[in-house]
Amino acid sequence: MSTAGLDELYREVILDHYRNPHGAAAVEHPAVEVEGHNPLCGDELHLHLDVADGKIRAVHIDARGCSISVASASMLAQQLEGATLSDAIELKKTFQAVMKGAEWPEGVDPGDLEALEGVKNFPVRIKCALLAWMTLEQALADLDPELVGEIEGDRDIEVISKKS
Ligand code: ZN
Repeated sequence: MSTAGLDELYREVILDHYRNPHGAAAVEHPAVEVEGHNPLCGDELHLHLDVADGKIRAVHIDARGCSISVASASMLAQQLEGATLSDAIELKKTFQAVMKGAEWPEGVDPGDLEALEGVKNFPVRIKCALLAWMTLEQALADLDPELVGEIEGDRDIEVISKKS
């Protein structure tokens, strides 16, 4: 898939994540397992979270799909290991808002996710970038429905809980 229009540096960051994704190592005792599917591009992923004391101890993501979907999942794993569940849902909301056209809020460090900002100019690819985050939202809702509240989701992305 083409990433034409994205800055060269950002393209490098995305390809690094795609070739060498974070979260590749299996999690031994996942507290939650969710599967996500983006039928518009054929991207698929399995997300496992190991959670203890309200914190994400480890993230495992098995992502198969285009470079944007795999890179976004890798960045999620990179940024959320060690994060609290509330940090995780906040980052999901912020990233989803950025994909809908918002700027990164003042004081929030987007890390490598900044490299995906240009994706918002390509409506079909937004689904690729959001897949991991919609899957994460469901996983967090399975763990703590009160924290997540109403699931925002995305009308094109399918998520299935495997275990909660
Ligand atoms: Zn895709």
